[in-house]
Amino acid sequence: MTDIRREHAEALDAADPVAGLRSRFVVENDIVYVDGNSLGRLPHAVRDRVSTTVEEWGSRLVAGWADWIELPRQVGDRLAGAVLGARAGEVVVTDSVTVNLYKLASAALDARSDRRTVVIDADDFPTDRYVVEGLAQRRGLDLGVMADAPLEGHHPDDVASMCAVLQPALVVLSHVNYRTGALLDMPAITEAVHEHGALMLWDLSHSVGVVPIDLRRSGADLAVGCTYKYLNAGPGAPAFLYVRSELQESLRSPIWGWFGQRGQFEMGPSYEPEAGVARFLAGTPPIAGVASVDAALGPIEEAGIDEIWAKSQALTQFVVDLHDTWLAPLGCELGTPRDPERRGSHVSVRHPDAWQLCRALIEIEGVVPDFRGPDSIRLGLSPLYTRFVDAWNAVDRLRRLVETGEYRAVAAAPRRVT
Ligand SMILES: *Cc1c(COP(=O)(O)O)cnc(C)c1O
Repeated sequence: MTDIRREHAEALDAADPVAGLRSRFVVENDIVYVDGNSLGRLPHAVRDRVSTTVEEWGSRLVAGWADWIELPRQVGDRLAGAVLGARAGEVVVTDSVTVNLYKLASAALDARSDRRTVVIDADDFPTDRYVVEGLAQRRGLDLGVMADAPLEGHHPDDVASMCAVLQPALVVLSHVNYRTGALLDMPAITEAVHEHGALMLWDLSHSVGVVPIDLRRSGADLAVGCTYKYLNAGPGAPAFLYVRSELQESLRSPIWGWFGQRGQFEMGPSYEPEAGVARFLAGTPPIAGVASVDAALGPIEEAGIDEIWAKSQALTQFVVDLHDTWLAPLGCELGTPRDPERRGSHVSVRHPDAWQLCRALIEIEGVVPDFRGPDSIRLGLSPLYTRFVDAWNAVDRLRRLVETGEYRAVAAAPRRVT
């Protein structure tokens, strides 16, 4: 029988090896923040670093570029080593996930122009589906849409059968599903895709910084991911992209920008791609944002991804146990896989009135989760600063709202941001 008493949550916090890292983050009030999977908390080191970068601009002016110019690659190398299982020279930090996905998917489709299909997941994050759909439409390619995934997400065998039939040029999937938290088997799926001669592009937005990732060992060809969720680099901090070193020379960015040009400051007459992954840079990178990513990696490196992952699994399991004991009897349903090895770091609780429950959690209970349609309340449990008592409080207050029906008094009007 699982111990779900508040005292047990306190005991888990007392024994937590990464508990001390919470002090590296700005925590200004007693809001129970369970939305770090949408926007991570602000690390003190990021606040300091952004301020230093802005001061550098003031004092060094254009001379600052002597150092800034290397940042997208340097921070890419640091990310590669700390959380991606990639080599130096395989990752750069620049642009948004959307733009990076466009660049890499485009390059992959050019490289496999003998094939006519690209495979996506019907349940993937919208921008991923839209970007690929747009590329397919413009090129007159067919879309292979993987639908009806079980709660655990697509099995490698399902991806293999899809590829066997469609012989796609490229498969694009998210490592962790944004709604359910399902964590796909990256090595097995990548292998299945390769067996059928396609390229594999992973979106790591919901796994990077919390789930151990080994891009080299999994054989992944391409990857993108954002830095403002579990990496805590801030709203609009630039994303990263990964191109396996063996593929770099054969791929070209669809955007022939001067930051991807060989000998950038020779200002030559025509475009010739830079060697290596830097060819996927386009225009001037947002330097304060790239510096944020750099600083945000400090606490993550200090804890180590394995400790972070261990705490993530313990936190999500605690919430699943609380759900089963308190919420399931009240008509809620778990919208996340039960196997801790097969989920990321958020737990989705499903309820027909999820939207109003989310609003009531925020407005009445001081708990910040988020809503994902049609009926999911996502409880994001970012291990570096989320305590077991936070998880306990969040579910306890959700239980109270469902039990009393008090949430029905909250306005149900839709909002622009959910
Ligand atoms: C958060 C997220 C994005 C965000 O894309 P941006 O272009 O950075 O806004 C994309 N894909 C997935 C899977 C995400 O979770």
